[in-house]
Amino acid sequence: MKCPKCGSLEDKVLETRQSKDGMVIKRRRECLACGYRYTTYERIEEETIKVIKKDGRTEPFNKDKIANGIKLASKSRPILEEQIRNIAEEIERYLLDEGKLTTTSYEIGEFVKERLKKLDKVAYLRFLSVYEDFKDVEDFEEKIRQIKKE
Ligand SMILES: [Zn+2]
Repeated sequence: MKCPKCGSLEDKVLETRQSKDGMVIKRRRECLACGYRYTTYERIEEETIKVIKKDGRTEPFNKDKIANGIKLASKSRPILEEQIRNIAEEIERYLLDEGKLTTTSYEIGEFVKERLKKLDKVAYLRFLSVYEDFKDVEDFEEKIRQIKKE
């Protein structure tokens, strides 16, 4: 495996673990050239993560789509492109770690909400307004009250 830091192709596997359901193998590797440690995931090729949407339809997991949703909510907020990508990647890593090859748009939404809440309250509110389908100003006021209370 090519080291993401120095590009060397020499590495050793430190640890191999299997997800609970045995669908994903996780390997902790160390680059022999620079000592950098990273993780690779092995799974059956056709097994992409599936996302069940609110209307019951299924679509393939798409990191870009998640990042775009966050980007919209973060417009003109002090949030870096990289932070947005990290959230999307974190979700994928979490799902693979758990061996969850089927998830729901609800679960993804909850994950994003939690991360955004810590990162930026305004972006969080904006995301909520779309995600929870706010109907009017009262919905915003109610959420803002909740945030202030916490
Ligand atoms: Zn390296």
